[in-house]
Amino acid sequence: MTPEIAKSILVVGAVAWFVIRLPHQKRSWKTKTRLDRRTLREKILLTCSFTGLGIIPFIYVFSGVPRFANYPFQPVLAWLGTAVFAASLWLFYRVHRELGRNWSDSLEVREQHALVTEGLYRYVRHPMYTAFFMWALAQALLLPNWIAGPAGLVGFGTLFLFRVGQEERMMLDTFGEEYRAYMKRTARLIPGVY
Ligand code: SAH
Repeated sequence: MTPEIAKSILVVGAVAWFVIRLPHQKRSWKTKTRLDRRTLREKILLTCSFTGLGIIPFIYVFSGVPRFANYPFQPVLAWLGTAVFAASLWLFYRVHRELGRNWSDSLEVREQHALVTEGLYRYVRHPMYTAFFMWALAQALLLPNWIAGPAGLVGFGTLFLFRVGQEERMMLDTFGEEYRAYMKRTARLIPGVY
């Protein structure tokens, strides 16, 4: 493992994520929406996440900037990052399939929205956000840079922090008691922990 290989793994992982998401993204453009809460606040949060997981690490990978924040590369951390990224891609794949037409990259309720409570959704109510946190963690482990590494955790963390309450409110407004009961028996991100 070298710093160059670690950087390539991050790029390959991001491309794989894009490929996993693409068919769902295309279908979601065609799926009718009953309730749209894609507010300006939501757009700003999505930009934060995209900056931290996309723009900052890619500037670093392709130009080495910001160089002053580099620290010595540790192969063992990069191997760990590779494993975490692989696991997150597997999660993304499964969760996209489980959510199906109900998926949206923002806060929306579909015309024929079904509440998913089985599969991975049986254990946590936000497995896709668990997968994004794992990607962000992998980025921190793969890039030996104090800014480009943790940028994903900060960017996605901001989105999560300000979105998750709004998303749960939207689901409660739509599914009422059914979602309240579902919340009672599930954790948000990690079974039994949070
Ligand atoms: N927070 C979830 C879903 C992310 S996608 C996760 O991390 O896995 C965001 C969209 O998913 C929201 O617009 C909402 O309409 C939908 N959604 C969230 N939880 C859902 C569930 N349990 N069943 C069906 N749709 C859900």
